[in-house]
Amino acid sequence: MPSFSGFSTRTNMRRVVLACIAVAFLAGCRLGPGVEGLVDLAPPGSDSLRLVYLGTGGWIMEHGDDQIMTAPLFSNPGVFRTGLWTIAADTTEIDRWMSQHDVGRTSVILSGHAHYDHLMDVPRVALRHSPRARILGNRTVANTLSEWSGVADRMDVVEESEVADHADGAEAAAMWRHYGNVRILPLRSHHAPHFDGYTLYQGTRDFPLEAAPTLAGEWLDGNTLAFLIDFLDDAGEVAFRIYYQDAVVAPPLGFAPDALIAERPVDVAIFVPATFDQVDWHPEAFVENLDPDRVLLGHWEDFFVPVDAPTRSIFLSDIGHFEDRLEHVFDGPFWRPEIGTEFRFPRR
Ligand SMILES: [Zn+2]
Repeated sequence: MPSFSGFSTRTNMRRVVLACIAVAFLAGCRLGPGVEGLVDLAPPGSDSLRLVYLGTGGWIMEHGDDQIMTAPLFSNPGVFRTGLWTIAADTTEIDRWMSQHDVGRTSVILSGHAHYDHLMDVPRVALRHSPRARILGNRTVANTLSEWSGVADRMDVVEESEVADHADGAEAAAMWRHYGNVRILPLRSHHAPHFDGYTLYQGTRDFPLEAAPTLAGEWLDGNTLAFLIDFLDDAGEVAFRIYYQDAVVAPPLGFAPDALIAERPVDVAIFVPATFDQVDWHPEAFVENLDPDRVLLGHWEDFFVPVDAPTRSIFLSDIGHFEDRLEHVFDGPFWRPEIGTEFRFPRR
């Protein structure tokens, strides 16, 4: 009887769905790559890397006594305000979120480009929360955070002649920047368009700003960098190698030197999925270049809403499509973390 078989099919479907949910729970509650809380893959007491996602471009990276940070954003001005009005760092929000983390020993804060979402909150973070940290970025980063910022004397500038290309061999060795047992190699990158081939706030700032920027359009990107980050052990060997980008880029720009990766592939690659579809072969080409063990997606969520608003992906791109394409070429684990998610990875 049609009505009976219809009922039976629905019941069976419900059983299948419930069984799938049960299996997902048994497998670690992982439905897709989205994750929050703690992802701890390191046996107790093991030599491990700790990463905490701060949202947008922000990560805390830690190994032993060494800690660095990539530039976070907590101020999150709304989309209309950003487009049409003035914006400024929200020190209350920055302090509220940053004070949840122990970042007093951060030795350096990295910023790959000087757009407001990668630089506007950095002075407050550096002055109030990470008072020892240097700030590593391009010349436009330094000229934007000039005297007004209070951190102008803490800039480590990467000039155009001081970045590594994927074809570089031994010459790249001279370009490492050292912070304790961490060494950082600035990589020549580029900022992909935001939409339809158009890049917002593009350009370099060749002279120091005289006052704090008040418009989003004053935070020009400059010559965008990506970074290869090595945490070294006491013997000077690479304990963990991280690749970090804070903007999508058309490969081979943004690549790490092939010769370096041949010696030691990347442990953790941090990719930006937002606007990936503005260029070809992102992420495929980067998986091939870096040969990563694990992949983390950063800068994927909507940052035009307050940090504690329900997380949703940025409207500029189909993040699910990015994840599908990543899965086609990468058979290791990857995660798309909620803000505050902590990862602990063991040494390979
Ligand atoms: Zn940007």
